[in-house]
Amino acid sequence: MIGPRDASIYIAAMMADRYGHEGIRILSNGLPDEYTEKGLQIAKAYGMTIERRPITAVLGDAGKDGKGLEGFEVEGGDRIESTIAIVAMGAVVYSDLLRDLGGDLDPTGRPLVGPKFETSVPGFFAVGDLVPGRKMQVYTGWDEAVDAADEINARIRKEKMAARLAAVGG
Ligand SMILES: Cc1cc2nc3c(=O)[nH]c(=O)nc-3n(C[C@H](O)[C@H](O)[C@H](O)COP(=O)(O)OP(=O)(O)OC[C@H]3O[C@@H](n4cnc5c(N)ncnc54)[C@H](O)[C@@H]3O)c2cc1C
Repeated sequence: MIGPRDASIYIAAMMADRYGHEGIRILSNGLPDEYTEKGLQIAKAYGMTIERRPITAVLGDAGKDGKGLEGFEVEGGDRIESTIAIVAMGAVVYSDLLRDLGGDLDPTGRPLVGPKFETSVPGFFAVGDLVPGRKMQVYTGWDEAVDAADEINARIRKEKMAARLAAVGG
């Protein structure tokens, strides 16, 4: 599990609980780590060890006939054997456009949205991983996009209908 924050420990614990993985290594990849005391306790309880040296090489061959991942080399040349690796580095939120327009964002920079995924800037919608407090999954983003597109379409149709009614003096 690669990541310098508690998220990597929690995901590792989930992998252990769900799939029975033992002795998971947490690699902070030389980044300043932010593991909390509780995170470190969980790591200990699950028998995880934390490797803080930077990764210098990914070992293995991802080619069609390759063996796949074999592990990592860390600074100093030590080798960490591994056939599965998950990156838990967190997310970088790109919401600058909305910020520049004066839209409301949460403390992490994610856009605050209403029930139809419209931001505080009228006509500006946000869906998917950017939206705070929801599942970050493909189907979630898809469903949100349908709601937003439906709302946009409904507004366009409302204007069209109003124009037709106006044309007949309604
Ligand atoms: C390792 C991993 C495994 C996952 N597995 C699953 C899974 O099994 N099932 C599942 O449902 N979900 C899974 N997810 C989550 C899923 O990938 C995301 O929830 C989903 O991709 C979010 O869609 P999105 O459109 O919000 O964002 P993204 O898919 O991240 O799309 C945003 C796009 O915007 C582009 N972009 C960013 N800034 C700019 C800019 N300034 N100008 C132009 N383009 C820009 C990016 O390049 C990107 O293409 C996984 C995620 C990861 C990282």
